[in-house]
Amino acid sequence: MPVQIPSVVLNNGVEMPILGFGVFQVSADETERVVTDALAAGYRHLDTAAAYGNEEAVGRAIRSSGIARDELFVTTKLWIHDGGEEGTKRAFDTSLELLGLDRLDLYLIHQPLGDYYSSWRAMQELYRQGAVRAIGVSNFYPDRLVDLVEHNEITPAVNQIETHPFFQRVDDQALLTERGVQIESWGPLAEGKNNIFSDPVLTAVGAAHGKSVAQVTLRWLIQRSVVAIPKSTRPERMAENLDIFDFVLSDDEMARIATLDTGTSVAFDHHDPAMVSHLNATSTR
Ligand code: NDP
Repeated sequence: MPVQIPSVVLNNGVEMPILGFGVFQVSADETERVVTDALAAGYRHLDTAAAYGNEEAVGRAIRSSGIARDELFVTTKLWIHDGGEEGTKRAFDTSLELLGLDRLDLYLIHQPLGDYYSSWRAMQELYRQGAVRAIGVSNFYPDRLVDLVEHNEITPAVNQIETHPFFQRVDDQALLTERGVQIESWGPLAEGKNNIFSDPVLTAVGAAHGKSVAQVTLRWLIQRSVVAIPKSTRPERMAENLDIFDFVLSDDEMARIATLDTGTSVAFDHHDPAMVSHLNATSTR
């Protein structure tokens, strides 16, 4: 029996599976095998980006899976230098071609950097033309998100931001919810940092349910209605990360996990000028 993955409903009515599969830092050589395994495990929601350099391999795995297009939810992202009105349309066409798709499910502005207001205008057009089912953003802190919303016609459907037990984004989620924007977690397993897989609280909560730290963490995210896209190159972990729909964390367990929040990133500080320059200097394709 394929795993039944619940969906969230985005602000335009489109349904998005609450659990998906990410391919950041999966090499182009390995991606076709990894995505083939993920689809075989039961994932139907895939998250890639132009900047990951593996869209073409994701597309090959989709085609060879034989899975009907309307059973899949595919996200890719626009990189900084590809932005602007014309640049965005070109980048979108390139991504679709590499993925071998004629329509995308979700297109995200990858970073709140560069000329992203022009990019958003182009994305609104792509959405109105029906080339993409939903448009959104990533790595937008609340100030940038609110400003984008208040100067444009279409509110992003999603904001994909770093969210995990050490950076829980509770206030940010409340703001997003108030504005009708779905929160999506990147780095749901904290990219393995802060010794997450041996964390005493997560380990103890897992032991009470016969579940691993990864499973408890992903369950905690989806119980908060946060979309999560864990990455693994290993089939046994892909299956483990999907096996989170047969248990429920109690209010007390959710409260214990809430104590792990440090309020800071384990990966990027988007307010650090050196990080902004680093991202701006990163090119794609
Ligand atoms: P994750 O938090 O998903 O962690 C991935 C790491 O955890 C890998 O080292 C993986 O190792 C390991 N892992 C996975 N499952 C298990 C398990 N069950 N037990 C033990 N270890 C496990 O990090 P990501 O950065 O990959 O985030 C997920 C996705 O989010 C990305 O792939 C990408 O799609 C997206 N993303 C978006 C960003 C953005 O700026 N918008 C930034 C970063 C990520 P192994 O592969 O060896 O199993």
